[in-house]
Amino acid sequence: TQRTLVLLKPDTVRRGLVGEVLSRFEAKGLSIVAMRHQHIDAALADQHYAEHVERDFYPPLRDFVTSGPLVALVLEGDEAIEVVRALNGATDGRKAAPGTIRGDLSLSNRENLVHGSDSPESAAREIALWFADL
Ligand code: ATP
Repeated sequence: TQRTLVLLKPDTVRRGLVGEVLSRFEAKGLSIVAMRHQHIDAALADQHYAEHVERDFYPPLRDFVTSGPLVALVLEGDEAIEVVRALNGATDGRKAAPGTIRGDLSLSNRENLVHGSDSPESAAREIALWFADL
């Protein structure tokens, strides 16, 4: 079994889609082992997106993820990292496949509703960053 860090980004909260998105993870069979509603500051955004801070797309991404509360959670299950990324769909909501969270619910490359850790190393780093008590 595996754990992964998931964010329901501020667009998910703002659009009233927290229940819809959580339902998809739960229906798949993943377990919620921690969850918190939180309005993050730029410092936490920079730590979370450490690999992207120098990229051109990062300043607007930082503004977006700090624009309102988000929901951070840890999901657990067999191959949870890959399973969550498959459920999330491709980064760009306009190109993500129908049936995925982004493919069904997002029309944006930035405001794409969800984040999921992309490797076991990222998951360990991100879970420690967001949920130091786990
Ligand atoms: P995540 O890491 O959030 O699960 P991802 O792995 O699909 O998404 P990354 O390439 O790691 O995508 O990019 C992180 C986030 O940065 C994306 O989820 C998106 O919100 C934003 N982003 C990535 N590329 C762009 C871009 N070209 N323009 C605007 N925003 C972008």
